[in-house]
Amino acid sequence: MFRFTALLLLPLLVSAADYDILIRNARVIDGAGNPWFRADVAVKDGRIAAIGRLADASAARSIDARERVVAPGFIDVHTHIEGGIERNPGGDNFLLDGVTTVITGNCGGSELNLAQWFDQLGKLGLGINVASLVGHNTVRREVMGAANRLATPEEIARMQSLVDRAMREGAVGFSTGLEYIPGTYSDTAEVVALAKAAAAHGGVYTSHMRDEGIRELEAITEAVNVGKEAGMPVEISHLKIDRRRVWGASDQSLALIEKFRREGVDVVADQYPYDRASTNLGIRLPTWALADGKIKDRLAGPATRRKIMEEMKRNLADMGEPDYGFATVARFTPDTAYEGKSIPEIAAMKGGAAGVESQIETIFDLMNAGGASMTYRLMGDLDIERIMRYPFTAIASDGGVIELGVGNPHPRSYGTNARVLGEYVRARGVLTLEDAIRRMTGLPARTFSLRDRGLVREGMAADLVLFDPARVEDKATYAKPHQYSQGFDLVVVNGKIVVDDGKLTGARPGQTLRHR
Ligand SMILES: [Zn+2]
Repeated sequence: MFRFTALLLLPLLVSAADYDILIRNARVIDGAGNPWFRADVAVKDGRIAAIGRLADASAARSIDARERVVAPGFIDVHTHIEGGIERNPGGDNFLLDGVTTVITGNCGGSELNLAQWFDQLGKLGLGINVASLVGHNTVRREVMGAANRLATPEEIARMQSLVDRAMREGAVGFSTGLEYIPGTYSDTAEVVALAKAAAAHGGVYTSHMRDEGIRELEAITEAVNVGKEAGMPVEISHLKIDRRRVWGASDQSLALIEKFRREGVDVVADQYPYDRASTNLGIRLPTWALADGKIKDRLAGPATRRKIMEEMKRNLADMGEPDYGFATVARFTPDTAYEGKSIPEIAAMKGGAAGVESQIETIFDLMNAGGASMTYRLMGDLDIERIMRYPFTAIASDGGVIELGVGNPHPRSYGTNARVLGEYVRARGVLTLEDAIRRMTGLPARTFSLRDRGLVREGMAADLVLFDPARVEDKATYAKPHQYSQGFDLVVVNGKIVVDDGKLTGARPGQTLRHR
């Protein structure tokens, strides 16, 4: 009889703890921008269950924060995880940088069949939470290929139905990448028509704008007009000034955004804290040269090849760059010896003459071999810091899920948040700690309608990070990118510990977050 009773009691005793996780003696930064306060934070059944003095409470796992900071898990609203997350569903580089939720499908490129993709990710088991936008370039390519022309009314209707379907499948909004093929061939009317299909479901409009340098004010105005006409909030992606010739012009960009906000437009921005951009090599070529995927044919014709070269020389001068020294190869599978080398260095390796023409010939060779992933040193410190200080700039990596040790990727995928906290908060004093956290949590949750995330509040999803603000540090550099951030001692996703004492636990509690 006694034994029988004990068996019955055992499960009761195990579940008798008040909470699953109890973090004691923390300094809580709530994600809304408020000053930190001392409290214990308790988690139960995937939710933040209690915040306050919980000295008498019990928990399956108790952690003494010893005055370290507890903040909401970071929400990285600008990522490109398609193709990477399937191979590494843990999303380790994000988790170890404090990120618990990513929004992907940015810059016009997303999965087309979101429901199917979400199901696939669910089966793989995610470390991070994943939400997605639906991309303009993706739907345009599906309907029109890489055609260099405006869409017909029938094509617009077909693209609208694809956007509508993706929104019904849970997309959080509509993204454009208007510097890229094929979105660059569209006009504003097409973008508005498709944005309306997303606005009908409460989506956000995010835009990698047509220009991020000399014509940035026009580009901001176009993005805002899309939001106004479609009736939806606007997020300007990776706000920057990407031309040396106009470095310092961010004051005008921010003044314009502020003017629109005062007029009642919901427009915000995101930014990554680095002076190099990262994208493909093709973006250096005239957009007409890439139409229909026929770059090789065009480079094979001497007259056209010459025309492309002359246009590239003019673009370079227009940027204020003396040569392609700003351009470094990140990934080039046909010859990994080029990875980490600049275009002038590769031209020299190939025995080319000094000068811009031989560098452009090198770019042509790489394009003929299928193109390359690149980093481009394009931004100045003054603009980076000024954009970061703007109150409605969120911190976002523009990164992806990285396979440890492969290629020479931009370090932002590893270190964005730690870099802001270590470099821009602690070393330079550009932001307060509370304000930096707000830009990683409460602000992005607001913009993308993640109503139960981004704040440390009772009832919210238990996505949390624990870190020491004196110690947190990014380690990834341009030369040695494959280094995880340090200092995020504990990371909790949906109430499960995914990073414990700075190490991955292998737990996969991430969810696909479908907009409703
Ligand atoms: Zn982009």
